[in-house]
Amino acid sequence: MRTLDTKTIVVASHNAGKIAEIADLIVPLGFSAKSAAELNFDVPEETGTTFEENAAIKALASACKSGLPALADDSGIAVDALDGAPGVYTADWAETADGSRDFAMAMEKVENLLAEKGATAPEQRTARFVCVLCLAWPDGHTETFRGEVEGTLVWPPRGDKGHGYDPVFKPAGHDRTFGEMETDEKTHGGPQDGGALSHRARAFRLFVEKGLAR
Ligand code: IMP
Repeated sequence: MRTLDTKTIVVASHNAGKIAEIADLIVPLGFSAKSAAELNFDVPEETGTTFEENAAIKALASACKSGLPALADDSGIAVDALDGAPGVYTADWAETADGSRDFAMAMEKVENLLAEKGATAPEQRTARFVCVLCLAWPDGHTETFRGEVEGTLVWPPRGDKGHGYDPVFKPAGHDRTFGEMETDEKTHGGPQDGGALSHRARAFRLFVEKGLAR
């Protein structure tokens, strides 16, 4: 595996939350981060059909334009009873007619489809959050790191601490949803989670353990 051996990288995102989250992680390790937003790079179209493809599209676009290694993430939720949907279309399911995002509506869409299938028991309502990080170099080389967290979908939604689909996702081994957890607990979990609970925390851990030169 190729490891990151330059001090500056581009965070291939225009999402302030993601940029801050990635910078928080790599700056203490001696790296500095510029974002695609501050470099005025265009947002590439996410035309892939997998999280890996979309993360690579974003990371390669920034790496090629900047001449520096670039890190991008792509994430979403996959519901087993819906054959993995919404998957890479997780954000799209929340899109409204005026172009804004409504996650209450998106969670209801998922719930209605589960209801149509008669999926009422927890074992019929399994799902996982997925986060794929792609580290790309200007020569086209990529390394990917995939984090997943298994859980079940509850209804009605519970908690207002998180974002997106957090209020309906109850991670395995826990009684509360992501929407009922503080950020720190969602990230690190309890004693049974080995220091990383969320899909994003698990992908970042792989990136730090395997993707950085020591
Ligand atoms: P992306 O920005 O293309 O990666 O889209 C990710 C989508 O998945 C967004 O709609 C998010 O709301 C949703 N998502 C990803 N991670 C989480 C999470 O930790 N909690 C809730 N929703 C999430």
